[in-house]
Order: sequence, then C-alpha cells, then structure tokens
Amino acid sequence: MVETFRPTTLEEALEIRAAHRAVPFAGGTDLMVRLRRGPGVLPGFEQPVLFLDRCAELANLSADDRALEIGSMVTLAALAANPLVPRPLAEVALSMAGPGIRSVATVGGNVCNASPAADLMPFLCAHNARARLISKTARRTLPVEELVTGPGTTVVEPDELLAALIVPAWSPAVSFWRKAGTRRANALTKVSLFACADTDGVTVHRARISLGAVAPTVLRLREVERLLEGTAVVDLAGIAARAAEACAAAVRPIDDQRSTADYRRRVACDLVGHFISAVLSGRRA
Ligand SMILES: Cc1cc2nc3c(=O)[nH]c(=O)nc-3n(C[C@H](O)[C@H](O)[C@H](O)COP(=O)(O)OP(=O)(O)OC[C@H]3O[C@@H](n4cnc5c(N)ncnc54)[C@H](O)[C@@H]3O)c2cc1C
Repeated sequence: MVETFRPTTLEEALEIRAAHRAVPFAGGTDLMVRLRRGPGVLPGFEQPVLFLDRCAELANLSADDRALEIGSMVTLAALAANPLVPRPLAEVALSMAGPGIRSVATVGGNVCNASPAADLMPFLCAHNARARLISKTARRTLPVEELVTGPGTTVVEPDELLAALIVPAWSPAVSFWRKAGTRRANALTKVSLFACADTDGVTVHRARISLGAVAPTVLRLREVERLLEGTAVVDLAGIAARAAEACAAAVRPIDDQRSTADYRRRVACDLVGHFISAVLSGRRA
C-alpha cells in the first residue's frame, strides 16, 4: 500500500510534496488511465499520492483588466460555466471529454499531463498564457509553452505544484477552435487548432495559431502568424497556399492508434485554411 495524503491547505500540500515527493492527484482522469493494470484491477500507484481536491486555494478563478487567473484545480465544468471566462475558452472546455469527466478533470491536470493532444494547450499557447509554479520555498512563473517539454514531460520540479494559469486579457476579433476526433464526446484529439486574430476589417494586426497533436508539444505556427500579420484582409485568399505550405513544413505528426501522420498533416493544413477563411469573412466561428 502506498501512503496517501489529503491536505486541506496549500501550505500543507507543499510541505507534503517537499517531504514525500508525492504524486499530485487532481481529478485523476489521466492518472487512473496511465496507471491502469487491466480490467477489474485497481490502478497501481508506486509513489505516495497527494490528493489536491480539498485545497480550495487552488480552485480560485478571478479576472481583472489585465488577466484571467485560473487555479490549477478549477474543473473543466467550472471553467466552462464561469461568466468571467471568455466564450472561446469555455467552448474549448465544452468540447473536451463528456459531462462526467469534465466535472472532475482539472485545468492543471490537463496541462501537467503534458499530452501533445491536451485540448486546453492550443488556447493557452495562442494567448501567451503563463504558468505559476510554487514550492515550499519559492515561486516562479514561466510561459505555459515552456512548461511542457515533450510527451508526458514538464519542467515541474518534484517539490513543486502548478498553482495557476494566467491568461493575459485579450478579446481578438476572430477566435477559431476546431478539434478532429472520432466522435463529438469522449474523443481524444487527432488534430486540433486554436487560432485568433485582430483585424480592423482592412488589415490583420495580430494573429496567433496553435496546433495540437501534430508534434511532441503543442506547436505555435509562428511563420504563418508572420505571414498573416500586416496583410490586407482582401489579400488573405492569395496567401492561403503559402500558409498551408508553411504549416506542412512545421508539423511533425506521428502514426499512432488514433490516426496517421499523413491524415494529421493534411487536416492541420486544412484547418489553417479554414481559419484564414474565417478571418477573411470577419466571422467569429
Ligand atoms: C474518457 C476520457 C475522455 C477525455 N477526453 C479528453 C479530451 O477531450 N481532451 C483532453 O484534452 N483530455 C481528455 N481526457 C484527458 C483528461 O481528462 C484531461 O487531460 C484532464 O484535464 C486531466 O485532469 P485531471 O485533473 O484528471 O488530471 P490528473 O489525472 O489528476 O493528473 C494528470 C497529471 O498532472 C499532474 N498534476 C495534476 N495537477 C497538478 C498540479 N497542480 N501540479 C503539478 N502536477 C499536477 C498529475 O500528477 C498527473 O501527472 C479524457 C480522459 C478520459 C478518461
């Protein structure tokens, strides 16, 4: 039997994390799958487990004119339901899993699980979100893009917890989210794209494009962003082919049980084209 801890304060949780190197257990919806041992057998934990569900400090959500701050223990359901959350982010949350999973799965778990297909990551990366990490003795913030270093790997130290995600305030004129999966609910992503742009209807002033599940970590298409920025909206159709080429060159998809590399590359390029069409028509899609 492994030791388990269920602290009621963040301070206590950080003490336990430092002393026991205990594995954070948020909603458990990734952990229980990762540690499964077969049908009818309980998942096998080899290290002490730190349940975070009673640490209310980690479940706060607040916003001011500079940023939205999302505690790592905010569930996907709470995220989608909170009126402080911008509609595009709520829509991403509602496209994930199904109601049962969303009621326990957390924002922090989605990020720290470090799956290339984690659906919150394209939104967070496109918005230059930052991650706040805390330990008993220190705190630091870093771009969420730098938190995840590869499939299943992060820079979170064994004595640290992800406390919150900080999303700078920005309401782009166009926000666009697409997720290709086998079905609408409880489908893990084959390819995803979150993109947004500011335009005055004449020129594209700012564009951000992030793709999920086409590289070891979520991928910002910076070359395509540069291509769009400063371009007249009426000229966008003319650069769609170059954007698709730049996308094809940037992605590094793999074949796995969910999809093929070729499908992922083609869908990623198509989604970039759909985003450009959305900017062109000024739609909020
Ligand atoms: C049926 C089903 C459908 C799903 N559908 C989707 C989907 O559509 N899209 C999607 O992206 N995901 C999906 N998932 C995956 C999963 O539900 C999400 O990634 C979820 O957000 C994970 O959150 P959690 O709280 O359950 O994480 P946990 O399983 O508790 O933790 C995941 C990892 O993060 C670490 N961790 C958790 N919190 C912290 C913290 N505060 N600090 C440091 N480390 C921490 C844990 O130690 C663990 O390594 C699905 C899973 C299932 C079972």
